[in-house]
Amino acid sequence: MENRKSKISVVVPCYNEEAALGFFYPAICAVADKMNYVDWEFDFVDDGSSDKTLDVMRKFSLEDERVRYISFSRNFGKEAAMFAGLEMATGDYVAVMDADLQDPPELLEEMYNYLTSGEYDCAATRRVTRKGEPPIRSIFAKMFYKIINKTLDFEIMDGARDFRLMTRKMVDAVISMSEYNRFSKGIFGWVGFRTKWIPYENVERVAGETKWHFWKLVLYSIEGVVAFSTAPLMISSIVGLIFCFLAFVMLLIVFFKTLIYGDPVAGWPSLACLILFIGGIQLFCMGILGQYLSKMYLEVKGRPIYIVKENNEDYANQRKNSAVLTK
Ligand code: UDP
Ligand code: MG
Repeated sequence: MENRKSKISVVVPCYNEEAALGFFYPAICAVADKMNYVDWEFDFVDDGSSDKTLDVMRKFSLEDERVRYISFSRNFGKEAAMFAGLEMATGDYVAVMDADLQDPPELLEEMYNYLTSGEYDCAATRRVTRKGEPPIRSIFAKMFYKIINKTLDFEIMDGARDFRLMTRKMVDAVISMSEYNRFSKGIFGWVGFRTKWIPYENVERVAGETKWHFWKLVLYSIEGVVAFSTAPLMISSIVGLIFCFLAFVMLLIVFFKTLIYGDPVAGWPSLACLILFIGGIQLFCMGILGQYLSKMYLEVKGRPIYIVKENNEDYANQRKNSAVLTK
């Protein structure tokens, strides 16, 4: 058998990372030089950045043939960018990492060793501390993982980051899940495979700003629940049943009380409260239903997950053509 070097593709979703890329690229190159027993490919995905991120990628792609990039026609979100990167990656192993160096590239060697040992199909990282995070956010995050894991038949690891190295088999499995509403933490868990969790301390990003805010995180977690669990629907049905039962018991009580004691049923305020309360619960349950319906609506449309405006080959051709014209 031909002794071909295996190849690692590094997928990097970037949204307004002009500043961070200047740090990231040398860092990943240093790791690639150190691990020269494998081939490398860097797949940058420009998620419709409004700064000079695309220019930086163009420059890298001219200077380094390992660099490939695609640029979206607008901002489609990190999930879409990750999916696009996984689709474009050609390596035997594919890593996903942030551009802000919060995911230390040095860990890649350890991850690679886990995978080549044949024991694991994926080496992923999880934060063990939530240092530098507002406490309220940590509390909500912990609660979210506890609740969601109760309702799933696979586990979504608390503190799991998207930084991971996967075998081709696992990447193909992830790509085969072509849903429009993508929740990667769930998708990675759902596809299964043996995962080695590598704990590490959280580091601050080198440059730029985080794109996550509390409210965005709350919406993201609701999306996660709706994407992978139908428990809320079940809960709303059960709540409905319980209320039916309670109403029936109350009806009996009122009926017999009137028969035995003959006292008129008084108290409209309590009645008003009850109507409001039950009305609220009904709306809430309809809202849950609506969440699933809206996801289904988007899913049924079958829209593409992302739209590419430009890639490194387009850019190279364009330069070639303009060079011919100016001659
Ligand atoms: N990102 C992206 N599209 C977005 C938001 C973020 O591609 O709409 C990228 C971003 O450039 C970074 C990674 O996703 O490489 C993680 O983003 P960020 O650092 O803001 O998240 P955090 O590390 O705080 O979870
Ligand atoms: Mg980050």
